Amino acid sequence: MRPAREGEPEGSSPRIVSGWSSPRVLAVKQVPRVTRARGRGRLSGDGNRAAPRAVVLKAILKLAVAAAIVTSTYYAVVAIAEHKADALAGGGAFALGRRPAAEAAALDALSAQLEDWGEHELAASLARLRGSGHLWVAPRLAGGRSAIYVDALGLVSRIYVRRDQLVARGLPFPDLGIPDAARRTFATIRLAGTLVHELQHYEGVEDEGAAYEREMAWYRELGERIADRFSGEDRRWFEWAVASAIDSAAAAKAAAAATPHS
Ligand SMILES: [Zn+2]
Repeated sequence: MRPAREGEPEGSSPRIVSGWSSPRVLAVKQVPRVTRARGRGRLSGDGNRAAPRAVVLKAILKLAVAAAIVTSTYYAVVAIAEHKADALAGGGAFALGRRPAAEAAALDALSAQLEDWGEHELAASLARLRGSGHLWVAPRLAGGRSAIYVDALGLVSRIYVRRDQLVARGLPFPDLGIPDAARRTFATIRLAGTLVHELQHYEGVEDEGAAYEREMAWYRELGERIADRFSGEDRRWFEWAVASAIDSAAAAKAAAAATPHS
């Protein structure tokens, strides 16, 4: 029986390990019972020095758990808000990035048209909206609307644009014998004006009347600035397109005033 080394408790059980060349005998400290019952609140010996650290670790663990709960709750609520927003837009909506190609190209074409009309501010607003991930495409947007603004639970703030209006500049009057170019101009003007309207809401305007007034003012300003580019029949159809967009907005404003909570 060899003497116990310094710091080696009585009753240590020896263990044989392989060394570099020959086996040597090491004393292995018996693990005190209290340290095995970690976390049960009873510490002694070395445990006394570890106590403050254990308290800090426990506090950190509590904070981490609390943070995880807050984070997961937040994301759960955001998911609910996103689901609610998607449902309001008819379902199946997706963010307009660089893809899918058809939708991205359609927005590029709309922006190019707006730039050509001198509507640089609107084109820049749409670029910012798209860049920030707040411009979405809604393939099933109902109610004859070209675009809508949705704020769900204060967590999701998006403008949804109806896919067929964006990509094909849909023809709202299929039976009236209007030339295709004039229909497309009308659809483009109305889509752009609707986006002006929804951008008002996105920027914090809650009053429907004010948003429609701004939309109609945009049509009038566009008409006054661009009409001279056209002549003859083309001018007549352009003026028809602008006037129709204004009439459409005025009717929508009256309908909104009649049902203020819709
Ligand atoms: Zn509105």
